[in-house]
Amino acid sequence: MVWMMIEVGMKMGGETRRSGGAILSLSLWRGYPGRARSASEVRLDWGRRRRWKIGYYYYYPSPSTIGPRPKREWIRRLQYFLLQHPDPEVRASLRIPPAQLQQDGLVLYPPEVPTDGRPIHGVCSWESSGCLRTPQNGYSNHLDIIQPDPHSWVVNFDDGPLPPSERLYQILDQFGIKATHFWIGGNVLKYWKLAKMADRRGDHLAVHTWSHSHLTSLTSHQILGELGWTMQIIFDLTGKVPRFFRPPYGNIDNRVRAIAKHVFGLETVIWNFDSVDWGLNQTYATGDQVDRPDPRTAPTLEQVVEAIGRFASANSSSAGGLILQHELSLEAVEAFRRSWDSVRAARFSSVGPLPVCLDAGMAQWYQ
Ligand SMILES: [Zn+2]
Repeated sequence: MVWMMIEVGMKMGGETRRSGGAILSLSLWRGYPGRARSASEVRLDWGRRRRWKIGYYYYYPSPSTIGPRPKREWIRRLQYFLLQHPDPEVRASLRIPPAQLQQDGLVLYPPEVPTDGRPIHGVCSWESSGCLRTPQNGYSNHLDIIQPDPHSWVVNFDDGPLPPSERLYQILDQFGIKATHFWIGGNVLKYWKLAKMADRRGDHLAVHTWSHSHLTSLTSHQILGELGWTMQIIFDLTGKVPRFFRPPYGNIDNRVRAIAKHVFGLETVIWNFDSVDWGLNQTYATGDQVDRPDPRTAPTLEQVVEAIGRFASANSSSAGGLILQHELSLEAVEAFRRSWDSVRAARFSSVGPLPVCLDAGMAQWYQ
């Protein structure tokens, strides 16, 4: 049975509102009762065939929606993997309950949930127990990307696109380099012209969730919405299906990883050094979702620049750099500009977007 539901913009349970020239007034949905029997039956189609387009407007959740309502095809795919995936580890991961977000921004799991990193049983939470999916922790597949190829330096920025991104693009042009952007979907909706500029300059586009929330504290359907809508808007704007995703705050466990990988085909990317540029003054911060710097402990611009330079020279002959850096504020962009001389002086053999620094430069950029 196929049924259709017509939804008018303002009625979406408060999820939709006018913003940035991209509201959508009408969307056409199809219901799919029954359960999928194979993964191929619920293949994700990022194309536009199933979406109702009026002029140039599409339907998206409003930028600040935490865990926006997912599309039905994403839910169906999750159900298939939850119930029928041949790998028991995937099924177990998808049954991990959401953690509770505490006042201090840290998450707490129910007492019966083991937070260690054991495959199958463990949550493998990076925040609660420092667990990453690495061979050292007993994992053999779907590993977290925590560093690039040796002797390489990933140029990457989180939290854009935002007004300071325009300045960042100018600097990248000056330096003659391209970058990876881990984008917040809500910011892509608000600043879609800046998003198109990044795509046109040939930068690499990746996912950083819709609302910059603590993913492990959300329900699985909310996680679907956070990742799915960010991929959808990047696809609608650029025709590209992202392959890489970075969890905000590094807040990730095996449930989030399983949804990212098995529903959406996303690889998880962490970092091997935090530049702490998010602690600088923030012009154009995105609001409550992003950590506000504490003026008592905030680093100075000079300290951030110096720390990046030190890390670059210490790692040029060993691990390489996949650092945490932001296009969140003019200050953070300036820290990148000023630190670039010392990165260049470290003479990495590859410098550029993430895929250029993985698998000897042969990694796919998109799906
Ligand atoms: Zn972020």
